[in-house]
Amino acid sequence: MTPHTSFPVDHIGIAVSDLSEAIAHYTSVFGQGPDHLETLEAQGVSVAFFTTPTSSVELLSPWGEHSPIAKFLDKKGPGLHHMAYLVPKEQYLAEIKRLTDLGLKPLTPSPNLGAKGKLVQFFHPRENQGVLMELCSYK
Ligand code: ZN
Repeated sequence: MTPHTSFPVDHIGIAVSDLSEAIAHYTSVFGQGPDHLETLEAQGVSVAFFTTPTSSVELLSPWGEHSPIAKFLDKKGPGLHHMAYLVPKEQYLAEIKRLTDLGLKPLTPSPNLGAKGKLVQFFHPRENQGVLMELCSYK
């Protein structure tokens, strides 16, 4: 059997400079509040998730002094930050290798622990048509 090589969109990441203000905005837009708030100190980010019928929106704001989100906001301002695809855990490492073999560049040598306890591996936007890509999986 050929393994699946396209996966559902788990969430869309949006970089924001003021998390409270962005939460208020998206609460108005979606008519419901966030269902998950978390600070990932090691990643330098505070996040808020809003579940939508087919996916989720993740708001990312800088946390701490060396936040990659702060760098992103300095360069580009608020906006689309990444697309995240959910990969079954039994295919996860093979999929990271497959994409790496295709020429995509992982941002870290191995997956990190991300929001909601998931494993996350990011791939550089340069080799992905300008979009930062996250592969995530439940452990
Ligand atoms: Zn994400």
